[in-house]
Amino acid sequence: MKIRFVLLLLAPVFAFAQRDYSSMPVAHNEIAPGVHRLYIGQGVSVTAFTGQDGILLIDAGYEQTTRQLMDTLKRIDQRPVTYLINTHLHGDHTGGNAVAGNNATVIAHTNTKAYLMAERKPENQSSSAGLPSITFDNEMRLQFNGQELLLKHLPAGHTNSDIIVHFPESNVVVVGDLLFAGYFPFIDLNRGGTLEGYFSNVRHLTGTYNDQTIFIGGHGPAFSRAQLSEWIDILSETVTIIRRAQSEGMNADEIKKANLLQKWESFGSFFITADRWIDTVLAGS
Ligand SMILES: [Zn+2]
Repeated sequence: MKIRFVLLLLAPVFAFAQRDYSSMPVAHNEIAPGVHRLYIGQGVSVTAFTGQDGILLIDAGYEQTTRQLMDTLKRIDQRPVTYLINTHLHGDHTGGNAVAGNNATVIAHTNTKAYLMAERKPENQSSSAGLPSITFDNEMRLQFNGQELLLKHLPAGHTNSDIIVHFPESNVVVVGDLLFAGYFPFIDLNRGGTLEGYFSNVRHLTGTYNDQTIFIGGHGPAFSRAQLSEWIDILSETVTIIRRAQSEGMNADEIKKANLLQKWESFGSFFITADRWIDTVLAGS
């Protein structure tokens, strides 16, 4: 069971297995004053909030891309990282914790810390490097750089450790892997994620914020509310199609061979292919 968990945790990394991490570029753009989106290797988002108090980082990317992440950060702002918030436990969001969070206070949901401790590599069993020192269950507020940020746990969706970070003044919400912008999402059914929860959380996001809100997800470009709505509507349509095929007596292989999701081919171009999405939907039904 434990081995299976480890393999699944590494799954997002396999999408880049052929690539050289050390040369993976980090793109950067300022989404709102002081709110920077860093994009590692065209695949993984990190958000940095800079200002008078220093840097607040949301997620830390892969362990193997920490150096270029920190180099990019230094070019944006010389001040130290004061806080590092993890949106959830996965290695493409927490892998850089030990370095990026070295002199910072690391904050995460209670379950994120529990998973990180349970899944530490054998050689790191006695080390607390990069582990969250502040955890919460429902929500917390944080004053930083003249703004009050709201950190909120949403019910089990992508995993059961997901939090979102709202910047009310900037009208930006960092939603972690509740957004795979333009792609089929990964739903970690082995770590508390649920299909229904994922959809209801994204619907909660579209219902809570406004037309000017910018949503930064863990993967893909930043989205407006209209784009987020369109994305979840398409995913919902694919679920309906898969379930209809299932109710007509088709098994997983038959559904995959029938190319029912061909219209949304680009959705499968990241790391959850159409076939994996079909498996997720069938497993989550
Ligand atoms: Zn994830």
